[in-house]
Amino acid sequence: MNLLKALWLFVLSLTSAAALSANIQVQAVSQHLHILSGKDYGTNIGLVETPNGLVLIDPMPGKAHLAELEKVIKEIHHKPITHILNTHAHDDHSGGNAFFTSQGVQLVVGESSIQGISHRVVKSHTTTDNIYYHKPSNTIFVGDVFDTSWHPTFYAGGVAGFNNAIDTVLRMGDEQSLVVPGHGAAKDKASLRKFRKNTLEWVDTIRLLSIQGLSVEQIMTNKKVIDLVERFNLSGKSPFLPQKAYQRFIERTIQVIEREHDSV
Ligand SMILES: [Zn+2]
Repeated sequence: MNLLKALWLFVLSLTSAAALSANIQVQAVSQHLHILSGKDYGTNIGLVETPNGLVLIDPMPGKAHLAELEKVIKEIHHKPITHILNTHAHDDHSGGNAFFTSQGVQLVVGESSIQGISHRVVKSHTTTDNIYYHKPSNTIFVGDVFDTSWHPTFYAGGVAGFNNAIDTVLRMGDEQSLVVPGHGAAKDKASLRKFRKNTLEWVDTIRLLSIQGLSVEQIMTNKKVIDLVERFNLSGKSPFLPQKAYQRFIERTIQVIEREHDSV
């Protein structure tokens, strides 16, 4: 990072601090792009200033904090919000839509003509995962195709869909692109590649153990499986996953493996 950019980010972080609210965190990536996140779901909300207006990506900080989100946005940009984009339909990403559309904000579904934001559709976390790339700030919003605070959730697309989704993201932008997951800290492409490698190793390991006839309970206590799941614990939470979620992750991975086996 050059000195000017570092200075700029510092100034931006000062202005962000002034806008900080109790429930919403603000991170300035550039003059035109902020990442906001609410306490409730930790969903990364994109706030992008474009020539077509002020665009919100996944504006969901929790139902109780929507007015607070709006207030924070007004403090950052003294202009109206014009468009909403969703990375996918799940409520922790789209649940704030109605709050804004009832005020006249336009929800953009499918192809968008917003200047500076390009769009690809993949199938991994859900059947329709939207990837949005903001070229002026070299930032890619990838939704729950990537997660830096949770285990991977590739249940709609399986391994093939997941691989295709990651390839699609890697083809956008360049090596310096900021990659914003649905939840958790924004990272870079190297982290995304690592996430893919760990995910594929996870699937291969679960496949092998279930072929060997191990039950879900036995897989849960397998040393390699425990180590593998810990690789997704980027923020060092302890415990990382509640037991129920850990069990569910294994069960759903087995379902994906069986489905892919059936379709061969
Ligand atoms: Zn989500």
